[in-house]
Amino acid sequence: MQIRKPDPSFLVFRWEPGSAERTQQYRVEPRPGMTVLDALVEIQREQDPTLAFRYACRVGMCGSCAVVINGRERWACRTLLASLKADAVSVRPLYHFPLIRDLVVDMAPFAAKMKAVAAAFVPKGGEEAFAPIGRNAKERRQIDGAIECIGCGACLSACTMVGWDKGFAGPAALNRAFTLMGDTRDGAGADRWPLLLSEEALFRCHGQANCTEVCPMELSPTESILKLRRRSIFQLVKLPHRLDTPRATVLA
Ligand code: SF4
Repeated sequence: MQIRKPDPSFLVFRWEPGSAERTQQYRVEPRPGMTVLDALVEIQREQDPTLAFRYACRVGMCGSCAVVINGRERWACRTLLASLKADAVSVRPLYHFPLIRDLVVDMAPFAAKMKAVAAAFVPKGGEEAFAPIGRNAKERRQIDGAIECIGCGACLSACTMVGWDKGFAGPAALNRAFTLMGDTRDGAGADRWPLLLSEEALFRCHGQANCTEVCPMELSPTESILKLRRRSIFQLVKLPHRLDTPRATVLA
């Protein structure tokens, strides 16, 4: 007689304003090809309509379903239950973001960190804003590996320095700054350098590469930070008074 394995147990983080954090257990019958997001949707539709989580595209394009699954940051829509090879699946919200409810976090700090290091494109005066740069151009190849960030926040959740210092700009913003500093169409480099050289930016990173390990787009913010640091040596010569320069201020 074949003994049927019990359905996997889902241990889901629950919290709402005014209540204490708790873990709630659900059981879901696995189907071939079932993802963690499929399981959460099934739980919400058939067992517990109060469970809150975020998703949009369901196909790994938007990154909005990023959560911590069995201790690691992943996209729920791209995580097959079978790939976890576990009888129990724990799901909790991303670390280092304010909680809104259950698995939903407030992404405002993500945008605030971008702003703190001016990680937004500013077209150079007098140039066409969208002048094309060929995909084989040298400057494009230098940043190619870093441009596909979709802003899921997994790297910030995995970064211990972000947890330790809320003011640290963090991997996603510094990775974005790296792509901008290599973009000849961008005109904000001179204003961005002092922010990147401040205490809360490039030099706060300890190179542990937790961000790189979890990035679902397989980017390496660690490498972007190291490359920017190398370039910053020339700026330090130009800006020897860097400790007097403005701090990257994260306001979220
Ligand atoms: S660098 Fe990777 S993990 Fe970080 S926000 Fe971008 S896609 Fe997500």
